[in-house]
Amino acid sequence: MKNEMRVEFDAKSVNEGFARVTVAAFLTQLDPTLDEIADVKTAVSEAVTNAIIHGYENSEGKVGLTCVLEDDMAVITVEDKGVGMEDIQKAMEPFYTTKPELERSGMGFAFMEVFMDEMQVESKPGTGTKVTMKKKIGAKEDENQDGCSKSSH
Ligand code: ATP
Ligand code: MG
Repeated sequence: MKNEMRVEFDAKSVNEGFARVTVAAFLTQLDPTLDEIADVKTAVSEAVTNAIIHGYENSEGKVGLTCVLEDDMAVITVEDKGVGMEDIQKAMEPFYTTKPELERSGMGFAFMEVFMDEMQVESKPGTGTKVTMKKKIGAKEDENQDGCSKSSH
């Protein structure tokens, strides 16, 4: 069964929690583990924070969030129509940040890559940025019986 949701909200940091919880609530129908929910929430948080502070540089704008569930696969997109990026590859390198003065560590994309199975970034200067992330839900249950997990959020 395919099931899709789409929301749009103002680019304000107060909405980060809303975005995280919305995706988590929609995901529950796939019966995720707590670790899987935590991983997805972390990734969504990072992408939404980026849209707000980098995409719109804390000025006004709208952030689009979609989640498509198909069988046990969740595909999440976070989109802004902000400043965009010149060099996506460079932006995705661990520790790379254009806002060190804000005490950003440059680890947002690295977290998204670790916590999700796949991540893809499309961006154009002056047009905006779209981050697409995929994760198979329920896939890691057997592997995690030794108590090891990627996230404890
Ligand atoms: P952290 O996420 O650790 O607080 P960060 O946000 O700088 O720091 P990343 O999330 O990895 O680190 O992003 C790296 C860089 O990519 C950012 O510093 C910014 O220059 C650019 N970037 C990320 N998302 C966007 C976006 N939506 N629009 C424009 N630029 C972006
Ligand atoms: Mg970031």
